[in-house]
Amino acid sequence: GEGDATFQFNHVKIKANKMDLIVPHELFINNEFVPARSGATTPALCPADESVLCEVSSAQKEDVDIAVRAAKEAFENGDWSRMSHRDRGTLMFRLADLMEQHKEELATLESLDSGAVYTLAIKTHIGMSIETWRYFAGWTDKVHGNTIPLNQARPNRNLSFTKKEPIGVCGLITPWNYPLMMVSWKMAACLAAGNTVVLKPAEVSSLTALKLAELSVHAGFPPGVINVLPGAGRVCGQAIVDHPDVRKIGFTGSTAVGQQIMQSCATNTLKRVSLELGGKSPLVIFSDCDLDKAVRVGLQSVYFNKGENCISAGRLFVEEEIYDQYLRRVVDEVKKMKIGDPLDRSVSHGPQNHRAHLDKLLCYVEQGVKEGARLLYGGKRLDRKGYFMEPTVLVDVEDNMFVAEEESFGPIMVVSKFINGDVEGVTKRANATRYGLAAGVFTKDINKALRMADNFQAGTVFINTYNKTDVAVPFGGFKMSGFGKDLGADAINEYLQTKAVTIEY
Ligand code: NAD
Repeated sequence: GEGDATFQFNHVKIKANKMDLIVPHELFINNEFVPARSGATTPALCPADESVLCEVSSAQKEDVDIAVRAAKEAFENGDWSRMSHRDRGTLMFRLADLMEQHKEELATLESLDSGAVYTLAIKTHIGMSIETWRYFAGWTDKVHGNTIPLNQARPNRNLSFTKKEPIGVCGLITPWNYPLMMVSWKMAACLAAGNTVVLKPAEVSSLTALKLAELSVHAGFPPGVINVLPGAGRVCGQAIVDHPDVRKIGFTGSTAVGQQIMQSCATNTLKRVSLELGGKSPLVIFSDCDLDKAVRVGLQSVYFNKGENCISAGRLFVEEEIYDQYLRRVVDEVKKMKIGDPLDRSVSHGPQNHRAHLDKLLCYVEQGVKEGARLLYGGKRLDRKGYFMEPTVLVDVEDNMFVAEEESFGPIMVVSKFINGDVEGVTKRANATRYGLAAGVFTKDINKALRMADNFQAGTVFINTYNKTDVAVPFGGFKMSGFGKDLGADAINEYLQTKAVTIEY
């Protein structure tokens, strides 16, 4: 029973305003919570008030070795990889149901640990995580290969068929912006395909990943299928990347680290990799758009999850004719945003995830202003405890400025003007970035919109909307935003390998 198992674990209590949370804080290996062998821990900080929520065990190389051994044993004994596909799906559905039962608790924990406002956490961070588990649970019995007649003199005597097989132990490494959702996007697809997992969540926000691990025990997952190791990227992450028994790395994070991981995988063990990396996504707003919507969605495109959103619109291009009007209306709306305690249901803008990130964002604004961008609103840290930053609007940005080229990953709107009617010119400017994660356009002219969609160099294009992701729609970048998709049918293939069997009869 669920109650029994909970008390076997050495959990800690965290007080939130509406409930007490009982939270796992150690490494999860082979269905047990254990401290790091070295005893190392790092504090989980609450970005809203800088308090220590609890100490979290921090995995080192020796812990990675133990977890990979457990995952390898679980893969090879077939408890998961050769389990009836539908039974595997049933377990995943059961886990989703448990997440649903613990939804408020998970959302509260996510909010405390990452600074996400509760109302968004419950809908997106946790809500979409649950949907993701259900979506991939449904895939477990829909994975199959093909039969292929051979091109020979007597083709009816020769036949090949393909099988889709799991790869083995997969190392998953995730960032802190949507902690549980990024874990779910990767882990659900990976497990549905029959692999076993060693996950390293972001060291600054790993509590919901550990809670998920606990729920997986209650759901009935066999030991070793899921292992969760909070720890430092350069220590624990690198040890997973370099481990000879890990056959694939699924990574979401910065482009710089993604490049490093790919290099390590090539040099040491030639692992497969899929990389969901940074972005600087353009959003083009034409004067013939629904302006009310372009203002509302334009704000969302930047300030959603306090800008800690990989597809966040990194740059808005607004047509000259409506430029001043658009900026006036944006600032009116930004002024109305309520900043404060993310657990307060009326708050729309929470603190940045951690101190170093906040400092980086403040420097980013400073650099923009130094190079001649006009600071129309915000730009400062709030004078209170917690990592709060004003939603910021930088305008009159030129193409060669730092803020036009670099990702901020924060609540900073970066706006440039484009010449009336210059579709070709603005498309070129929108594509003049090394990234290619997302792009968007607002216009009522469907021909123009579809032409833009054809020409954007980005893995995701939004027309008259933004941020609208769905578990059934493949998600991932072009260019230096990486390769390999999360979500949708494409994602399951990232975690399968094809075996061809040829018969002569
Ligand atoms: P990051 O690259 O610093 O860290 C991501 C993860 O990698 C963390 O778990 C970290 O501990 C780990 N890591 C760091 N060094 C490592 C190493 N040498 N070996 C193995 N693992 C290592 O990124 P971040 O600061 O956590 O996240 C922000 C970045 O993530 C932004 O660039 C953002 O655009 C990107 N992101 C992309 C997507 C997407 O889907 N494309 C989604 C969310 C975030």
